[in-house]
Amino acid sequence: SVPAAILSALSASARGGVLFKGGVALETLASVSTFAFDKTGTLTTGRQELSGIHCTGDETEFLARLAGLEAHSEHPVADAVRRAASERQVAPFEIREARAVPGEGIVGLDHQGVVWAGNERLANRMARHSAPMDCPAFLAALHDTPMTLILMGRGARIDGVAMVADEPRATTRPGLDALRARGVGHLAMVTGDRRAVADRVGAELGFSPDAIHADLRPEDKVEIVAGLTEKTRVAFVGDGVNDAAALARADVGIAMGVAGSEVALQAADVALLSDDLRRLAAAHKLAQRAARIIR
Ligand code: ADP
Ligand code: MG
Repeated sequence: SVPAAILSALSASARGGVLFKGGVALETLASVSTFAFDKTGTLTTGRQELSGIHCTGDETEFLARLAGLEAHSEHPVADAVRRAASERQVAPFEIREARAVPGEGIVGLDHQGVVWAGNERLANRMARHSAPMDCPAFLAALHDTPMTLILMGRGARIDGVAMVADEPRATTRPGLDALRARGVGHLAMVTGDRRAVADRVGAELGFSPDAIHADLRPEDKVEIVAGLTEKTRVAFVGDGVNDAAALARADVGIAMGVAGSEVALQAADVALLSDDLRRLAAAHKLAQRAARIIR
């Protein structure tokens, strides 16, 4: 039977919005000394802002096509695009047969042919299907800009780029500091976003430079988490989008926000109903206290 100390910790956590799938998940969390975090939507706000567009053609048409593509995505950057279009009263284009490319973006069809939006990996993938892609000068100039870039193109051509500002949640730094104060030895960031963004957000949140892993594909995230589990017990914390495999690979998978995808909740051992990382530190404390009592 489940020890009373575990049961009471499970119910105390549940009142704080932290749901464990069972007593084993709680006991495992107690022994975790490495936390690895997804960035976008986990450390940073799920409500990002579109802060600008550089494009070769008409900007309204660019935004309409981009919003049409992002209408089919659940990634936080997609939400930023949809809101920007609606604020500017730009009606999204109709995009057919849209499909997500995990960790890269989205591809679909408009009346002219293949259209896509995503990161540089996706741009390179699209270029490989036809003529080599010209890298517009505006893109090269943005290399060190600490913003998430959404490239959009038709076929092998890049039409432009939308910049999305990604800011830490107000509760993230206090949550991480609470974990540090609890003696959690290692905090790492694993993100599919660009190096420039990861480094800026990581510095703001006090991550050590060698613990900031950027430009990762979903399978690279899994590999990094697997590597960390060879040294210590590892929790992976993600908002769900594209993170099911990393959640499953960690000793404890922690899915954040009820808005997180169904798949993520299935892969996770713990669900954080709020996006407040201070709750995570509180749950870690409860778990360790319960573990001490039963030992
Ligand atoms: P992360 O949560 O760390 O950003 P993801 O694997 O979810 O990692 O995504 C990696 C990157 O792929 C994003 O930072 C973004 O640049 C790009 N991306 C993913 N989905 C989309 C999308 N729907 N539209 C545009 N870019 C996207
Ligand atoms: Mg994410």
